[in-house]
Amino acid sequence: MYYQSTRGKIRGLSFKDAVMMGLADDGGLLLPESIPTLSPGDIAAFSKLAYPELAFQILSRFVGDIPSADLKALIDRSYQSFSHPEITPVEHKDGVYILELFHGPTLAFKDVALQFLGNLFEYLLRERGEKMNILGATSGDTGSAAIYGVRGKENINIFILHPHGKVSPIQELQMTTVVDPNVFNLAIKGTFDDGQRIVKEAFGDLEFKEKHALGAVNSINWARVLAQVVYYFYAFGRVSLQTGCREIYFSVPTGNFGDIFAGYVAKRMGLPIKKLILATNENNILSRFVRNGDYSIDKVVQTHSPSMDIQLASNFERYLYYLFNQDSERIVEAMALLQKTGKLSFGSEDMDRVAEDFLALSVDDAQTLQTIRDFHASTGYILDPHTAVGVKAGRELAGGEVPVVCLATAHPAKFSDAVRKAIGLEPQRPSSLEGIENKEKRCVVIDADTRRVKEFVQNNAI
Ligand SMILES: *Cc1c(COP(=O)(O)O)cnc(C)c1O
Repeated sequence: MYYQSTRGKIRGLSFKDAVMMGLADDGGLLLPESIPTLSPGDIAAFSKLAYPELAFQILSRFVGDIPSADLKALIDRSYQSFSHPEITPVEHKDGVYILELFHGPTLAFKDVALQFLGNLFEYLLRERGEKMNILGATSGDTGSAAIYGVRGKENINIFILHPHGKVSPIQELQMTTVVDPNVFNLAIKGTFDDGQRIVKEAFGDLEFKEKHALGAVNSINWARVLAQVVYYFYAFGRVSLQTGCREIYFSVPTGNFGDIFAGYVAKRMGLPIKKLILATNENNILSRFVRNGDYSIDKVVQTHSPSMDIQLASNFERYLYYLFNQDSERIVEAMALLQKTGKLSFGSEDMDRVAEDFLALSVDDAQTLQTIRDFHASTGYILDPHTAVGVKAGRELAGGEVPVVCLATAHPAKFSDAVRKAIGLEPQRPSSLEGIENKEKRCVVIDADTRRVKEFVQNNAI
């Protein structure tokens, strides 16, 4: 299995090299040269497997250069940190299936991929005798999931910038109470955009980047997408065992097109997904694209589902590559046009193909809170606001006898303000959050200044 860039200049990379490269050196995103397909018999057999075994079955089809025993060990270790024996259990509530992806250490779905990526980085660095300094900016969920992915690991230090006082108290505590010596929290006196700008400038200084072996953990890393493919198969297995269904809908709350792209890969592998339902909040560039081919960048607005307050979806280029029949030249042209004009448009032939795979809905804040309220009233189950966006879209768009699985991307206790607004109740805290306010903390407050941040990295790099 080899990997190539959407922009056509990078080819023939092994899986391990694709993971270490992250963003392709030609500015594109890495994808397998071909996506392996599975027979209905293979897929039916998967429904009997426990999550780590299933993960091995899927991942091994994309990984050609890690011995099976090592890959198995990496997978097993990655999912031991989950608090639920099923890793990603499926709950049937009021006609929909809720795929709970929030039983990892930071209570959001990003743990599913980042627990694996952290172990994989450690394995590859040890093998190569190299070190890495991860530098990233976060508005909340990614930072804590990345920190938990690499805390205590050998040959890796991690530096995460968050806007001082501007992330939710739980998100801040989840980051700053990790006091392992390889973890550095930098609270910058500025905004999330300042953080992103500083990180970009540090990576743009090639001498600095080389010298400190800077690494990234953002959602463009292929290993993250791959780890997320697994739970689509897992959920189909559970639901088809219960119902005998031959087809299924998935409703996916999205902002960066990462999670839903993993579903698209599962569909291309042969999983019988009737449609992928793409659910956005008011930052609706992706749902506008699916509904009427309008991919035009707008201002980011703040919503109750902040992890989806994104306009430029970093993984969208991967989907465009398939929509454009794997034509790299067309991708290069489209990306240049997007950069220049802030928009892309699509003809009816393209849109017919989009409609074969996707449905979409944009859900506003009032509808999000109403969905949390209605769902709680009818089932007693509390949805987090991101999940509620997906449940609303799933209910509205799935039809007939085909079951719908809604991806639950965060635990409600992580977004308790929105939940309280909706139902006037405090969601029960899982044990990992109990007493978190009283734990030891480590965090440095620093000016939103690239020079100061680079100095700090330099002094603390591994
Ligand atoms: C990151 C995140 C999302 C969006 O993920 P995508 O990869 O953009 O689909 C949704 N919900 C939560 C809770 C998140 O943390």
